[in-house]
Amino acid sequence: MVKQTIKIFCRVKPTKGKTGLYEVDEEESGGPKLSFFVPKDQSQIVNNTKEEYNFRFQRVFEQQTKQEEVFEHVAQPVVDNAISGYNGTIFAYGQTGSGKTFTITGGAERYADRGIIPRTLSYLFEYYEKHPEFTYTTHVSYLEIYNESGYDLLDPKHEAAKLEDLPKVSLMEDTDQNIHLKNLSVHQAMNEEEALNLLFLGDTNRMIAETPMNQASTRSHCIFTIHLTAREPGSATIRRSKLHLVDLAGSERVGKTGVGGTLLAEAKYINLSLHYLEQVIVALSEKSRSHIPYRNSMMTSVLRDSLGGNCMTTMIATCSVEKKNIDESISTCRFAQRVALIKNDALLNEEVDPKLMVLRLKKEIVELKDQLSLATGEQPTDDLSGEDMDRLHQMVKGYIEDTDPDATLPVGADMRKINECFRIFKRLVLERHAGKAGVTNGALEEEEEPSVSEDSGLGSAPSTAGSAEVKKLKDLLQQRDNEINILVNMLKKEKKRAQDAALLLEERGIPFHTGEGTQPNGPGRPPSSRSKHRNREERSRESVSVSRSLSHSESREKETTPPYSQSTTVRLRKIGGEMSVGRQEAFEIFKRDYEHSVTIDDQKSLLKQRYSEAKQLGEKVNSSRAQINHVKSLIQQHRMARAAQGISENVGFSEEPDEEEQHLRQQMEDEKDSYKVTYNRLRVLKTEIEHLQHLLEKARLQMQKDFELWWAEQTVNAHAPKPPQEPPAAWKTPPHLPP
Ligand code: ADP
Ligand code: MG
Repeated sequence: MVKQTIKIFCRVKPTKGKTGLYEVDEEESGGPKLSFFVPKDQSQIVNNTKEEYNFRFQRVFEQQTKQEEVFEHVAQPVVDNAISGYNGTIFAYGQTGSGKTFTITGGAERYADRGIIPRTLSYLFEYYEKHPEFTYTTHVSYLEIYNESGYDLLDPKHEAAKLEDLPKVSLMEDTDQNIHLKNLSVHQAMNEEEALNLLFLGDTNRMIAETPMNQASTRSHCIFTIHLTAREPGSATIRRSKLHLVDLAGSERVGKTGVGGTLLAEAKYINLSLHYLEQVIVALSEKSRSHIPYRNSMMTSVLRDSLGGNCMTTMIATCSVEKKNIDESISTCRFAQRVALIKNDALLNEEVDPKLMVLRLKKEIVELKDQLSLATGEQPTDDLSGEDMDRLHQMVKGYIEDTDPDATLPVGADMRKINECFRIFKRLVLERHAGKAGVTNGALEEEEEPSVSEDSGLGSAPSTAGSAEVKKLKDLLQQRDNEINILVNMLKKEKKRAQDAALLLEERGIPFHTGEGTQPNGPGRPPSSRSKHRNREERSRESVSVSRSLSHSESREKETTPPYSQSTTVRLRKIGGEMSVGRQEAFEIFKRDYEHSVTIDDQKSLLKQRYSEAKQLGEKVNSSRAQINHVKSLIQQHRMARAAQGISENVGFSEEPDEEEQHLRQQMEDEKDSYKVTYNRLRVLKTEIEHLQHLLEKARLQMQKDFELWWAEQTVNAHAPKPPQEPPAAWKTPPHLPP
C-alpha cells in the first residue's frame, strides 16, 4: 500500500502583458511559492485585508510552459504507476477559460498543443512496444456529467444533436458499496490510433452536445478513463488499474464583489456539484470527520476512490492572472491547499484470474496425457484423412498469425500429426522464399540473411505492415491531391455563387455583410467579426482554420477505423443535407465572411506540407527496402559464385564471409538502420496527420454551430428589423470569463 497525499500543481495561463500581480519563488524549500499581490486601493475592504496571498505547490508551471513539460511532470509518474497496477487520477480545477481543457485535452489549433490525454495514449502504446515481455490491454470510456446526469460520449450509434440524445449513464451501488456506472460503454483500443479515435469521437460528441442553453463546456465535468491490465505470459496474475483524466466544470462563483478573505468564503459556486466536491474535500481534510458525503453528487461518487481512497491523485490548479481574475485564482489556490491535505491509500490491484488458472491447468492435463502416450509408445499407424490434414493446415496458419508470443499448436502426441505440421511449415517457408527474393538455391537456402521483417524490430511482420502502410498513405496522398484540386475549383465557384446569393439576399431585404468596408458591425455580420463577442471570436479563431477544406473529414471517414469516426461524419453530412438551397447559399457567404482566412491557409498548407513529407518518407521507406533486397541478392550471388569456385577448384566452401561479403553485410545493416528510422518517423507523422484532421473536423463543427446561431439571428432580424436585436445570450461574455 502506498500512502500519499494528493499532489497539487499550478499552471498559469499566458497573459498578453505583464500584470505584476503575482510572483513565483522557486527557491523556497517545501515547494515553490506562488504569491498574488492585490493593491490595497483595489480591494474594497480596508481592514484586515491581506495584500499578499501565498500558496505552496509541488510545482508551478509558469505562463510559457510547454504541454510536453506539463505531461512529463504531472502525468508521466501517474501513468507509470497505472501501468504497474495503481489507480490514478489527474484532475484540472479552475475558473472557465483558465486552461483546464487546454491542459487535459489540448489546444484546438496546433499538434504541439495536444494535452495530457493524447500524450498519455501515445506514451502507453510506446511503453507496451518497449516491454513485449508483458501482455497489456487498454480500454477506454468517456463520461460527461451535466446537471447530475451522466452521458456516454463514446456511443457510436447515436446521432446526437444534443446532450440528451446520448445514452444516459446511471450510478449503481453493489452490496459492498462499490460504485458501478450502468450504461457507460467501455471500448478496447488495440493501438494508439484506435485509442485516439475514441478520444476524437468523444470530443466531437462533447462539442455537438454543447448548446448555448446548456453551456456544457463550462458547466459539465468530463471524465476520460483508461482501464489497463498487465499480465506476464504464462502467469495467471493480472494487474488492473484505472486512470481518470478529469476536466472539471468551471469553478467560478457568484457573490464576489471584491477581493478579500471574508467575501470569497461567502461566494457560492455556480456549479452545485463543485460545492459538493468542496464539502468532500473539507470533510477529508478534517481528521475528526468519519462521514464523507460522497453521495451528494454524481461526480463525487464517480471520483470517490480518487478522493481519499485507493488511488494516486494529482490536481492541476489552472489560474489566470489578469486583474479581474485574480480573486478567482486565489480561490482556486485556496481550494488546492485543502486538497493537498488529503491522504490516499493506493493499493496494488493484483489478482489471480480463475479463468486463466483453469485454462492453464487444462493445458497441463493435455500435455501430461500426451507425454504419457508418447512414453507408452501407443501410436496410431493409419494415414491421416484429408479432413485431418485440412484441419492441421488451418491450425498451423492460425498459429503463425497469432501475435501472442505464448501461442501454442496443440496437435496432441500423435507423431503423424506432428510430422504433417512440420511438412506444412516447410512448405510455407519454401513458398515464402520463392515469392520473396525470387532466388531459390538449395545449397544457399539456409544461409540466407534474415529478411528485414525478421529482425528489424519493427513489431510483428512489419515488412508487410510497412508496405501496407505505405500503400495506404500513398492512396491517401492521391486522394488529398484530388481533393485539393476539387477544393480550388470549389473556391472559385463559391466566390461567384456567394456574390449572386448576396445580391439575392439584398433583394429580399435581408441585411448582411459581404466584404470589407461595409457595415463593420452591422446586425447581419457573422459573429466572428463582432469585436464585443470576444469569447466566441477566440473560439472561432481556433476552429475555423479549415472552413474551406471541408472534404477532408469526408474522406477521413473512409480511412479511419469504423465505427468510431463514422457516426460524427454521418451527422455532419446530415446537418448539411437538411439545408435548403437558400440557407446553403447563406452558409457559403457565412463561410467566406468567417474571419482569419490567413489561419485557414496556414493550416491548409501545414497539412499539405505534412502530406508531402509523408509521401517523401513513404518513398524513402520503399527505396530502402528495395536497396536491402538488392544487397541481399548481391550477397547470395557472391556466395553462389564462391561456392561454384570452390567446387571447380576442389577446395571446398568456407562458411566464413570473405571481405567483400562483410562489406556487403555492413551495407545492408546500415540500410536497415535507416529503414527503421524512416519507418518510425512515418508512423509518428501519421499520428500527427490524423490529429490535425481531427482538429479540422472540430473546426468545421464549430463553424456550423456558429452558423446556426447566426442564421437564427438573421431570421429574427429579417422579421423584426427594428430595434436591433440583442445577440443570443451565449454570445455575451459570461460575468466571470477572462478575455
Ligand atoms: P477552460 O477549459 O478552463 O474553460 P480552455 O482550456 O478552454 O479553458 O482555455 C481557454 C482559452 O485559452 C483557449 O483558447 C485555450 O486554447 C487558451 N489557453 C489556455 N491555456 C493555455 C496555455 N497554457 N497556453 C496557450 N493557450 C492557452
Ligand atoms: Mg473547458
